[in-house]
Amino acid sequence: MKKSFIIIGLGRFGSNVAKTLVDMNCDVLAVDINEESVTAISHYVHHCVIADASKESVLKELGVGSIDHAVVAIGNNLQATILTLVNLKKLGVPRITVRADEEGHKEVYKLLGASEVIIPEEASAISLANQITSDSILDYYKVSRDFAMVKVIVRNRIDQNLIQLDLRNNYEINIVGIIKKDGDFCIPKGTDTLSVGDIVVVVGMKDKIAKFDQFLNASV
Ligand code: ATP
Repeated sequence: MKKSFIIIGLGRFGSNVAKTLVDMNCDVLAVDINEESVTAISHYVHHCVIADASKESVLKELGVGSIDHAVVAIGNNLQATILTLVNLKKLGVPRITVRADEEGHKEVYKLLGASEVIIPEEASAISLANQITSDSILDYYKVSRDFAMVKVIVRNRIDQNLIQLDLRNNYEINIVGIIKKDGDFCIPKGTDTLSVGDIVVVVGMKDKIAKFDQFLNASV
């Protein structure tokens, strides 16, 4: 079944989250108190509403009780963010992601029941710093403090298949996908080999991934 989302606050962050979820074929309801913000996104997102999402009665009317995941992206309005979060919790939304602007607000939102709190500038800065330390790391997603999921391009010729490479034992990482040179994505089998130009999607501890990256790309 399709997952349903409500995105509250359609500034740059909220509207990009909403558009991306629509591209991923999810059910998206986009809400903003400001008419212009709603109009700006209405070409991309079919279900858009102008409303004050900090009010419980409004959220009830929007049917949030049956929504799987809410994203609160109201930005620097602390009071409206808190009221929205508390009301979403009260109405039983199982997962709530809150966008924060300041580190200090993170703990408040967590204590009030946010499933996760994101500071966009922090997340993109970490991602960028990790990408630029290696020319072969194309994309970087922090999974937890020590773990990450990254896309690494293969530049060296590697003759062994994945079973022979024994990556779990030798590097303590997992390859969860391979994007072949022609753009096709595949879930790897042990008998697969990596070709120059393939992009591997790897999960593991950051230092182990760096070691594996060196193996794939050393002396290139
Ligand atoms: P940036 O554009 O810099 O990434 P942002 O996404 O936080 O920042 P803001 O312009 O602060 O951008 O976006 C917050 C949005 O939240 C605004 O469009 C604002 O109208 C909306 N908003 C504020 N209060 C409410 C509320 N009570 N209910 C619904 N939407 C709200």
